[in-house]
Amino acid sequence: MDTEQPHSLRVETRLVGLGRGQHRAGQPLNVPVVLASTFRAPGSSEVGREYARDDGTPGWEALEELVDDLEGGPAVAFSSGMAAIAAVLELLPVGARVVVPQDSYTGLRGLLADGAAAGGRWDVVEVDATDTDALLAAVAEADLVWVESPSNPLLHLVDIEAVTRAAHAAGARVAVDNTFATPLLQNPLQLGADVVVHSATKAIGGHSDLLLGLVAVRDPADRERLTRRREVGGATPGSLECYLALRGARTLALRVERAQASAGELARRLAAHPAGLPVGYPGLPDHPQHALAVRQMRGPGIVLTLELPDARLADAFCERVTVVAHATSLGGVESTLERRAKLPGQEHVPAGLVRISVGCEHVEDLWADLSGALDAVLGEQTPRH
Ligand SMILES: *Cc1c(COP(=O)(O)O)cnc(C)c1O
Repeated sequence: MDTEQPHSLRVETRLVGLGRGQHRAGQPLNVPVVLASTFRAPGSSEVGREYARDDGTPGWEALEELVDDLEGGPAVAFSSGMAAIAAVLELLPVGARVVVPQDSYTGLRGLLADGAAAGGRWDVVEVDATDTDALLAAVAEADLVWVESPSNPLLHLVDIEAVTRAAHAAGARVAVDNTFATPLLQNPLQLGADVVVHSATKAIGGHSDLLLGLVAVRDPADRERLTRRREVGGATPGSLECYLALRGARTLALRVERAQASAGELARRLAAHPAGLPVGYPGLPDHPQHALAVRQMRGPGIVLTLELPDARLADAFCERVTVVAHATSLGGVESTLERRAKLPGQEHVPAGLVRISVGCEHVEDLWADLSGALDAVLGEQTPRH
């Protein structure tokens, strides 16, 4: 594809311009959706696509071209974020030691637990990733260090540069789940990591209408290994999903800018609310890792947490909001919220903790909805005289 653009262009411009296919008269501006499993066989002296699971479709390549550029390393698209994560873990030999943060995506925890239970596919060591000494001690014995920063749902941060330095010194590799930060706010490969994964289902797609995963790697040989995993594992992305994800990515910068500004405003107002409930947001000065967030990220992101006193009140709060959707997932144009401790594998999460993903609605409508619901459920809690 001859869509290469000079890197002097800013990311907002590259998001709009990359992954466009051939710049030739008469060609569409967007790479069309090609619905094909098989292609006419090339002649014996030609090369060409033959079967989509092996050779891909134009839509996969367009999306991968954009992600290569955003994360600064060759990218591979998968059918979901979990398919991408599974492919990375499958590159490890049987019995490899994987260090994983105690607070991390519930699907990752399930996958690792299943593999460990099924005769030691992996040797999993959980650490409190906010305890740097404990993390660095675990890293010394690891084959792969899995990092999620900020983490889902407690918004814990990991010093990616420090962990990577220690891991590489010990001969271990580092993979970072960058879903919460998005490629706009943090680029782990540039901080030294070997692998970065995204659930593009979230902010990259941005419209809650697809499932898709992405991996970008430092070493081009890893791209070959991951492409091979996709070919034989079969977790191929759909062409329509790639088209929609690329279309979503065109506005990623606009959406993240708006959502992040609103998330900051809502976090400050909730923290100042007379109820005095704990608010988690890396942009708040009292977040335990605020200084690291400022140093490592280009912005604190679009997700915050609010901890209600118990599960019953948190459920009532989630059911009371009307502008914000009571739904799982995050990163969409629509704000969503959910009480995370209700999910399996999330026993470490406070029972009343509500994760709020901020979307693109007007911040005053979001505030009226959230503060109204909060006042209502807290008001009902205290007996009336
Ligand atoms: C949602 C999510 C995933 C899994 O992605 P799917 O596209 O749902 O498979 C992985 N990591 C994080 C941090 C997530 O939020």
